[in-house]
Amino acid sequence: MTTTAWQRCINPQCKATYELTEIHHYCPQCGSLLDVEYDWDHLAVPKSLAHFERYWSERMIPQRFSGVWRFHELLPFAPLEECVTVGEGQTILQQSKPVAAYTGMKPGSLYLQYEGLNPSGSFKDNGMAAGTTHGRLVGAKVSACASTGNTSASLALFCSTTKSMNCVIFIGSGKIAYGKLSQALDYGAKTIQIEGDFDDAMARVQEVSKELGIYLLNSVNPFRLEGQKTIMFRVLEALRWEVPDWIVVPGGNLGNSSSFGKAFIELHRLGLIKKVPRLAVINASGADTLYRLYEQEKLRWNGGNVDRAKIDAFFHQMDVEGRRASTIASAIEINRPVNLTKCLRALDFCNGVVRKVSEQEILDAKAQVGAGGFGCEPASAASVAGTKKLVEEGIIGRDERVVCILTGYQLKDPNATVAYHGTDRAFFEKVLGARGVQTTEYANHPISVGNDLGQILSVLRQGK
Ligand SMILES: *Cc1c(COP(=O)(O)O)cnc(C)c1O
Ligand SMILES: [Zn+2]
Repeated sequence: MTTTAWQRCINPQCKATYELTEIHHYCPQCGSLLDVEYDWDHLAVPKSLAHFERYWSERMIPQRFSGVWRFHELLPFAPLEECVTVGEGQTILQQSKPVAAYTGMKPGSLYLQYEGLNPSGSFKDNGMAAGTTHGRLVGAKVSACASTGNTSASLALFCSTTKSMNCVIFIGSGKIAYGKLSQALDYGAKTIQIEGDFDDAMARVQEVSKELGIYLLNSVNPFRLEGQKTIMFRVLEALRWEVPDWIVVPGGNLGNSSSFGKAFIELHRLGLIKKVPRLAVINASGADTLYRLYEQEKLRWNGGNVDRAKIDAFFHQMDVEGRRASTIASAIEINRPVNLTKCLRALDFCNGVVRKVSEQEILDAKAQVGAGGFGCEPASAASVAGTKKLVEEGIIGRDERVVCILTGYQLKDPNATVAYHGTDRAFFEKVLGARGVQTTEYANHPISVGNDLGQILSVLRQGK
């Protein structure tokens, strides 16, 4: 197994390789990110994607039930029977006519991929299945992550149910939605609250991991991103192996967009798809590093020769101005995305675009996903808000086939939802008004009545 997969530096000037069992956060030679790479020529690669349908009848085997490991041939870095699973990836793709109408798309053109249906309520479980598998492979006893919430919830769940590692999570203070914090605490993770934001927590956890030899499970971990490729495999599966025109995804640390790009690069290279979808990555206006660098500064992958000086100057200026990420979409409240260069590669391969959306646009889109779909957390709705914007700009055609990735479950952040729909003005001001949200056009307000049959009947008869 070890000779058919390894880690490789993504910098074309370096291309250093490392064994699967080595643990690096960045290339020791040059500091770039690492990929998991496979010797496809010596692996049993399926001839067509329909190959994977045979596993639908093997659902009594936990790894075949898993929406990650049933695609094992496309991420074969560990023997199948050693792959960790908690039943992740039972997620679904659904058309939504109401949400299509909201975005300006033709009915039947817009699909929502509900990754919030994972066991811990976000897409992170796809990556964590693969990441914890590698952690166990290298004999890690303790794992850690910095998190805006969902990574910690996912890691804590994997550690509590599989008992293969202990877990420490690092979070910024006051920056985490209660639904997510409650999961980490409930699952028994050691929770370190740092005075600072996610970018601070990310910097500290890397130092701590190095110092104490703790296995790091943030998305700098290339094995995690292998698991997240399967989100795209399931989208294709749900479309009967037809490639959509667009994949739209919120961008935070840019692990998801990076892994989607890698998935399509590999599927294309293996001859399993002919067409490549376009990729749209959506930032929140208050955390728009990728948007600024890609759309304004025109930073590009450039065959891997990314203009580092431009990136360094950008972050230097950000520090000079004291700019900090700030958005209600806490899962993408990140100003220093660790997977920036890999995301540039994905945008390059998928002819991508980046947009930013306001708090108002995010919350309105979220209300629409709730009214015409299963609901989602604020960050996830950025994909729908971004689609609406791209349709308005004429970049996405009204009858193209678009898949929005809904990254997290509705109940992760009930505050945002209740503030939007509720009638408590003070709560609205505190949670949303302070962020510049002014209107609640799509709110479904509760109706207050006295404990009185007459009043209740009169309200219902008015058809309110
Ligand atoms: C982690 C997360 C994101 C951001 O994904 P990246 O891979 O970091 O870009 C978006 N939405 C939700 C709900 C998340 O948990
Ligand atoms: Zn390197």
